[in-house]
Amino acid sequence: MESVTVLGSTGSIGESTLDVIARHPDRYSVFALTANTQVDKLVEQCQAFKPKCVVMRDELSASLLAKRLKALALSADVLSGEAGLIEVASASEVNTVMAAIVGAAGLLPALAAVEAGKKVLLANKESLVMTGSLFLSAVKKSGAVLLPIDSEHNAIFQCMPLDHSDFDKAGVRRILLTASGGPFRQFSVQEMEHITPTQACAHPNWSMGKKISVDSATLMNKGLELIEACWLFNTTPAHIEVVIHPQSVIHSMVDYIDGSVIAQLGNPDMRTPIAHALGWPERIDSGVSLLDIVAVAKLDFEPPDETRFPCLRLARESFAAGKTAMVLLNAANEVAVAAFLQGRLSFNQIPVVIDQVLQTAELTEPESVAVVQEADRQARAVALGLVDKALR
Ligand code: NAD
Ligand code: MG
Repeated sequence: MESVTVLGSTGSIGESTLDVIARHPDRYSVFALTANTQVDKLVEQCQAFKPKCVVMRDELSASLLAKRLKALALSADVLSGEAGLIEVASASEVNTVMAAIVGAAGLLPALAAVEAGKKVLLANKESLVMTGSLFLSAVKKSGAVLLPIDSEHNAIFQCMPLDHSDFDKAGVRRILLTASGGPFRQFSVQEMEHITPTQACAHPNWSMGKKISVDSATLMNKGLELIEACWLFNTTPAHIEVVIHPQSVIHSMVDYIDGSVIAQLGNPDMRTPIAHALGWPERIDSGVSLLDIVAVAKLDFEPPDETRFPCLRLARESFAAGKTAMVLLNAANEVAVAAFLQGRLSFNQIPVVIDQVLQTAELTEPESVAVVQEADRQARAVALGLVDKALR
């Protein structure tokens, strides 16, 4: 029996993970579930999965949850805060950790799982973008098994030979990283000025959390994924071509020197990459419906437009700048997206804020997690100042 901790169990990825786990009660048991403040949803999940531990972000939510569980005679240990998250990500009873907290808040728990040598299913791309080589050295040191959940990276992983640390040796020429283009693929810059949070969160193909939905709409999601792919597959943006593919049926491709291009296809449903990583190296049922390729009929491709979607360019530039540039990119983006969702920043101002943070902040060598966290803190402060200025 594989014992699983689901970090961020009440989110979109968390719920899809529990959906797959529920299909295999003989194979997986749930050790811990965690949430920000969604007490009701966590109570329901506890009733269904009977975890040994649960973690809420703050003490108030934790005490509310504890009362509710007691009334239902459910006996889970209730923890709170980052210390609680780290504890359930690294506990000796745990084999597998799904890292599905959104944003920088997911960094320390994901790292704790890696340092404890777990099988880590990484959905939280922000942690890899922020700490790249530190994260990967921790994987090497502990012998953790890192499996990508992002559909594109999971697809690339499936299309690559097992040893993909060296493109030349593996005969790989480049990666084709697909992107749906988001809901505003055909909008003009003027039309983009009046985009509302509701419009931005209505993704044409995928149902996701709000932050990643806005990231998909600005193409920052693809920028973060470009960086994520560089770290995961030991390559550079020069070997990755971003391709807009509006149907989201091909989840990415790998191009080999003999001219073969291997693609992974499937319905746009995150339960496929989740089941792939959970079961790996075996295949398990995910509940995803059969791909009706005849109904799909047509697969379109076009290049991305980095003039209308500058976030992709900013991500590329921050990878080239190195050092803490990717920490700043991520922090500024999180602040700008939150401000947009609160109606405090327009859609087109998101890249403007990120660009200004990248231009004004000083870059340092990300030699430790503490340095990364300090750069993250400073970038957030600068970005918040810019949001306030944009309001006036
Ligand atoms: P979501 O907003 O639906 O869920 C986020 C989860 O994290 C929730 O359980 C929430 O309670 C928890 N959380 C939020 N802030 C927290 C905090 N400060 N402390 C502790 N817990 C906190 O997000 P999502 O769409 O499930 O995405 C999760 C991660 O997976 C993101 O990093 C995203 O980029 C990545 N991802 C998501 C998808 C998708 O289809 N949703 C696809 C690829 C990658
Ligand atoms: Mg993705």
